Amino acid sequence: MSTGKRIALLALHLESNRFAPPVSRADFEEKVLLYGDEIMQDAVQEHPRMVGTMTGFIHAMNKAGPWTPVPIVNADVGAAGPIDHEFYLELKEEMRERLEAAMPLDAVYFGEHGAAVSTEIHDPDGDLFQMAREIVGPDVPIISTLDLHTNISQEMVDATDALIIYRTNPHVDQYERGVEAAGAMQELLGNVKATTAFIRLPIVAPQVTQLTASGPYGEIIDYGQTLIDEDVMNISIAGGFTYGDTPHNGMAFLVTTRDDLAKARKICRELAERVWAYRDRFTPQLTALEDCIADAVARGEDPSLPSVIIADVADNPGGGGRGNTAWLLEGLHDAGAKGAILGVFNDAPLAAEAHALGIGATFEAHFNREETDQYSQPFAAEATILSLSDGKIVGRDPGSRKGMAIDLGPTAALQVGTVTVIVISIRQQCIDLGYFENFGVSVADARTVVVKSRGHFRAGFLPLFPPDRVIECDAPGLTSPNLENFEWTGFQRPIFPLDQETEWTPPDW
Ligand SMILES: [Zn+2]
Repeated sequence: MSTGKRIALLALHLESNRFAPPVSRADFEEKVLLYGDEIMQDAVQEHPRMVGTMTGFIHAMNKAGPWTPVPIVNADVGAAGPIDHEFYLELKEEMRERLEAAMPLDAVYFGEHGAAVSTEIHDPDGDLFQMAREIVGPDVPIISTLDLHTNISQEMVDATDALIIYRTNPHVDQYERGVEAAGAMQELLGNVKATTAFIRLPIVAPQVTQLTASGPYGEIIDYGQTLIDEDVMNISIAGGFTYGDTPHNGMAFLVTTRDDLAKARKICRELAERVWAYRDRFTPQLTALEDCIADAVARGEDPSLPSVIIADVADNPGGGGRGNTAWLLEGLHDAGAKGAILGVFNDAPLAAEAHALGIGATFEAHFNREETDQYSQPFAAEATILSLSDGKIVGRDPGSRKGMAIDLGPTAALQVGTVTVIVISIRQQCIDLGYFENFGVSVADARTVVVKSRGHFRAGFLPLFPPDRVIECDAPGLTSPNLENFEWTGFQRPIFPLDQETEWTPPDW
């Protein structure tokens, strides 16, 4: 029997694109919705379904000595639309009842994403943290890990002792941050007091400007880490999730010290001032759709040119995109771009039809026959079925899904003119080479690879496609980095770069 501190484990892992269709219980059940002991069982699987922060936290706590995990709820649908408010209230109630029944608790850990919105409220994450705080009282530590695409509200900061944010994009440090959260939790349980300074800048950085290997965002994260010392427990900088469209959007800086408020504030302010001074660098460099098509045609004709990736950044399922816009598919098909492969296209009815017809069959493929989203326009062309699969794969290459079980649903590889398309049934972002190669399609042999992803593909595809062989396409879509394409209603204006004249003065601490 476990003894030791009783620590509740919860997660709402949702990144909400305000412009995408709402999600409810069925959407979570299709991805990950675990209650009680199911959480602990998943954490010991070879290929867990939960995000690495939760498994990292659990594993590190197990290693540290006796504790009593109190698993509550782990709800994870990844990136999608707003959570249906009725379902949100149900989920919150389930969390509340289980937390109250579990009292007394010594601590609470949230494996949150951050950047959830419901169909009625802006800040479910802060709402859940506050609910937990009300139940456990002011003296019980509450720590949450967060994706770096999180929007930070004052409520989230006030209700918790520490917020620990990923430092990599593509995200390869989720497990590590879970381990770090466990370490911070041990300190707080050992009577260290955490004190946090928080600044939010009026900058909504387009998602493609938030890579961490280089560039303005990576630089400030790296610089922040050089300031960690015996007083500073954690420095977290949230790039933010633009499409949440909330009043608490904006790049956020959190400095958590071992009870040294003055130092936390000094560092926090310095980091924010640095970024503010170079804010102009948060401007995306996109390539026009027609230029992307012309480029693919040229590479198909001339084998001496290196192959490239075209990232369909505006239709990123990892940001709430439907994974089924057809501008690039239609353009490449109609132009006859040779050696083009495209993955992964989310179209369950088309995949089902392919499974009914069988390998080798040729038919008129109707893409998006049932989709209603404004960007998911129909496209039809003759197609031949190359391969079929149940779509159950394991994240293969370095990246945020490495080692995790992934369900794409019934999957088909189709040859559509000169373009090879991987059609899936459960909306997912194309993360690594396995999303092609599990279905018999070689990435190394392709001339042009189109991925439905904003940037998370970069870790897995890096060995074949360094940054200078990645083109970010300016096509329409739910996750377009072209911020002028959207009607924003939630932001506090003015906000940069939408409002170029935006001003900011540091807090008067
Ligand atoms: Zn993210």
